Amino acid sequence: MNAKALLVLAALSIIAAALFATPAQGKKMSDPLNVSFKPLTKPREAWKGQVSPEAYAVLFEEGTERAGSCALLHEKREGTFICAACYLPLFVNHTKFESGTGWPSFNDPIPGRLATKTDYKIGYPRTEYHCARCGGHQGHVFEDGPPPTGLRYCNNGVSMRFIPKGEPLPALRD
Ligand SMILES: [Zn+2]
Repeated sequence: MNAKALLVLAALSIIAAALFATPAQGKKMSDPLNVSFKPLTKPREAWKGQVSPEAYAVLFEEGTERAGSCALLHEKREGTFICAACYLPLFVNHTKFESGTGWPSFNDPIPGRLATKTDYKIGYPRTEYHCARCGGHQGHVFEDGPPPTGLRYCNNGVSMRFIPKGEPLPALRD
């Protein structure tokens, strides 16, 4: 191999290295803010058996767990709260606050992860919210939360899972 060919080879390998290095550096698999997803069309009954009966009752029958019943209420570590059904990351720890209600409370979801609707289940309108990917019910949002948003996302604990910082987030499941 002559010197010119070697140079060309060297240049090509530098270009190849740059090409392959760029996506790897830009891709942060464990960054909960950087998961892209499409809404699932899975029927709710199909989640039976994939989540606990208690979680199913909340997620897919819009139940509400008993106040103070979930250990996640007292979770204070750094980490990510994910949907218990499809594992979409919904909240990060620093937006959690103690509301005194007996339900895990947050004042700011990860952008784009929740969808809302109005429900009249208890006689007056409330804003229900659910996982934007699987549709699983999470809780209700009220306008009496702390700054900076002034919102209080009152979440059932059983419809989420907590992944401590340092542990890999599970892949989204269908
Ligand atoms: Zn979900």
